[in-house]
Amino acid sequence: MALHVLSGDTTFRSLRAVPRFAAELIKKRPLAFMLAGDKQRTIFSANNAQALPGVIVRAEGSPATGDPAIDEAYDGLGLTYDFFWNVFNRNSIDDEGMPLNGTVHFGANYSNAFWDGQRMVFGDGDGELFNRFTISLDVIAHELAHGVTEDETQLIYSSQSGALNESVSDVFGSLVKQYALNQTAEGADWLIGAGLFTDRVQGVGGNPAVLRSMKEPGTGYDDPVLGRDPQPGHMDDFVNTFEDNGGVHINSGIPNKAFYLAATNIGGYAWEKAGRVWYETLLDSRLRSNDKFQRFAQLTVENAKRYKVEAEVCDAWTKVGISVPMII
Ligand SMILES: [Zn+2]
Repeated sequence: MALHVLSGDTTFRSLRAVPRFAAELIKKRPLAFMLAGDKQRTIFSANNAQALPGVIVRAEGSPATGDPAIDEAYDGLGLTYDFFWNVFNRNSIDDEGMPLNGTVHFGANYSNAFWDGQRMVFGDGDGELFNRFTISLDVIAHELAHGVTEDETQLIYSSQSGALNESVSDVFGSLVKQYALNQTAEGADWLIGAGLFTDRVQGVGGNPAVLRSMKEPGTGYDDPVLGRDPQPGHMDDFVNTFEDNGGVHINSGIPNKAFYLAATNIGGYAWEKAGRVWYETLLDSRLRSNDKFQRFAQLTVENAKRYKVEAEVCDAWTKVGISVPMII
C-alpha cells in the first residue's frame, strides 16, 4: 500500500470537466458578481466513507472548524489560489475562476490524496506510516498544479514528459509553501511532503522522512519497509523502468534539482524569476505534450532571456547533465 502511494499520486486526467463546472457556477452566481481574484472554496467531509463529494463542512468565508483536516484543506486551497493569483495573475486552475472543492476524511485509514478532475480528495492516513494528507501545503499545491498543467499543456503522464509533469507540480508545490512562509531560495527546505510520514518512517542523515527533496533528490527517506527514495538528481543516474508510468515520480528528481539550482543561482525569492520562467515555459505554445527534458530545458533558457537569467538557468541544467546552448 505504501509503495503504491509513493508511486501513484493520482493525477488529473479529466480537466475537461471544467466547462461544465463553470456553467454550474454561473447558474449559482451571476457572472457580474464574479470578480477575478475571488476564491470559491467548499470543503466536504466523506465521514470516512468513500462516497463523493460528502457533506459540506466549510464554505468560503465561514470560520475555522477546529478539525485540522477541514481547516488545512480550506487554508491550503486558499494559499494555492492566492499564490497563482498574486504571482502569475492566474485565476484558479483553469484561469477562469474554477471553484476549488475539497473532500476530507475520505475512506477509512485511507493513505492517499488525489484530484479526481473535480475536487481534491484527502484521506486521513493509516496512522502507521502516513499522517493525514492535508498536513503538507506543498502536497495540496502539487495536486492542484497538476490541474494547471493539464489545462495548459497536457504533458503526457509517462516517461520523461510524465516526469516533467510531476516536476512542475513539485516546483509549484514548493513555491506555494515558500510564498506562504516568505522564504528565499536559500532559506527554503525544498522538501515535498514534510510531516506526511509518521515518525516510524526513517529519514536520511537523522532528518525526518519526507516524500522527496528537490535540493538533494534521493534523500527523502531510507526505511526498512519503504526502501530508499529512488530519485536521481543527474542524467547519469536516469532510471529506465516500466514501473511508475515509466518512472514519473523517480526521474522528476532531475528537473526538480535543475529548478532548485536555477532558483539558488538567481537568488532571492524563487517565484519571482525562476518560478516565472518555469510558469511561462509551461504556457509556451512551443512546449509539446510529449516533450522530454532536453526540449523543456531549452524552452526554459529561452524564457529566461526576458528576465536576463539565461546563464543561471543554463548552468542549472548543465549541472544535472543536460547541455543547453545559450543561443538557440
Ligand atoms: Zn503528482
